[in-house]
Amino acid sequence: MRVLLASSELHPYSKTGGLADMVGALAKSLASAGHRTGVVTPLYRGIWKHHFPKRLDWRMDLALGDRRFEPEVWTLEPQPNLTVYFIHAPEYFDRDGIYGDATASYPDNDERFIAFSKAAVHLARYLPWQPEAVHVHDWQTGLVPLLMRDQAARDGWVAPPRSVLTIHNLAYQGVFHRKSYALANLPAAYLNPGGVESHGAMNLLKTGIVFADAITTVSPRYAVEIGTPEYGEQLDGLIRERRAELTGILNGVDYEEWRTVGNSHLAFPFAADDLHGKANSKLALQAEMGLLPDLSIPLFGTVGRLASQKGVDLILGALEEMLSCPMQFVALGTGQPEYQTALLSLARRHPDKVNVRIGFDGAMSHRIEAGLDFFLMPSRFEPCGLNQMYSLRYGTVPIVRRTGGLDNSVVDYREDPDIANGIKFDEYSGRALAKAMRKALVLFGQPAWLDHYRRNGMNVDFSWDRTRLAYERVYQGGGR
Ligand code: ADP
Repeated sequence: MRVLLASSELHPYSKTGGLADMVGALAKSLASAGHRTGVVTPLYRGIWKHHFPKRLDWRMDLALGDRRFEPEVWTLEPQPNLTVYFIHAPEYFDRDGIYGDATASYPDNDERFIAFSKAAVHLARYLPWQPEAVHVHDWQTGLVPLLMRDQAARDGWVAPPRSVLTIHNLAYQGVFHRKSYALANLPAAYLNPGGVESHGAMNLLKTGIVFADAITTVSPRYAVEIGTPEYGEQLDGLIRERRAELTGILNGVDYEEWRTVGNSHLAFPFAADDLHGKANSKLALQAEMGLLPDLSIPLFGTVGRLASQKGVDLILGALEEMLSCPMQFVALGTGQPEYQTALLSLARRHPDKVNVRIGFDGAMSHRIEAGLDFFLMPSRFEPCGLNQMYSLRYGTVPIVRRTGGLDNSVVDYREDPDIANGIKFDEYSGRALAKAMRKALVLFGQPAWLDHYRRNGMNVDFSWDRTRLAYERVYQGGGR
């Protein structure tokens, strides 16, 4: 097949979260399976430092409200069958952040990503290899399916490709003032509650959900959850209407990136049948974080966006209770200032047990995943979640709340002792997390069982082949 992906993040060029990992890995997997694959993504500041795209002789000239948008296109071919198309528009993308700076989102994110979406559609229409499916991701490219339909209806685009939208997180919808709709240069008729509009505003994710030919989200359980008022972020009614076109597909893991042998991020290789390197990784992590290097102390930790979605308040609450036990805790993350402050204050009050790094550090995330005994992921909701899958691969036992992709990827003892690889809890409370952590301490005291969990985790197969096949079916017009 011929597939064009459009995404505002793409590993290894730009990343704030799982979206980047997923699109990067899906593209690799499609190309390796022999599909002609393109990815269109913004050329953000900094990409030039490590990557060397070439300018394509293709100057776009697109309408953007009452202005013109004239980005350049730069390309890279990281492997056969795969071309990355970078949209070079310094006025939008040559900035420190991807969506904003440390304090706020950029005020022109509507314009930045409507412009980007238009460039993506232009490529979809005029690339010589003629994509058969256009796969867009999240609100940043949510306008693409409508732009494609409109060009088919009013601008002579005969038989446009099938459009597929993946919802990576329904909580981020790209809601802007309705005035911004003028930037789309689309007929006013779409700006109504059956189309682009939601509660009087322009909603770009909703636009994608209404107009895409097919919709996917990143785990089967989240696909069900978002049709309920509790998880539907006020779009559950629309999700239920489009149920027949919605498929939940669990993300895969890029096992070239997340491997325990021959990985430049890991000083001590290890495997399911030889965990010595894991023990050394733990000692090295304890030392790196200024904690006592001691294998007999259970080491908990987390990596991730410090957002309310991730249950940071639960971690803080549970730790207040649990830090009286012999244990250590490390965290790497960046996000809401109140969580950063609270974690740092916890570390100041318990310098011998807790250390926290505020920031984004990919290499360190590997060292933490490998060195921990237990990874905490008590999310309020979790569309897929990748860190728990990375933990499993690195022999680290995840402690997760039973929601979304966490439920689909971790097996609790009560579900099946033979293949148990993690600890699940239900209630969204610090007490429930603390109880799960106490179970972890019991497990830690039984090394044979702990090894059973670790081996089970390391042997789970989340490779991309299964995930890719599910997407191929969606591109071809099939569903579940
Ligand atoms: P989400 O997409 O909601 O942020 P996921 O678990 O799906 O959560 O993916 C998060 C990805 O981002 C993982 O690859 C994780 O390691 C990475 N990540 C998040 N925060 C950080 C950080 N502070 N430093 C390094 N990597 C991070």
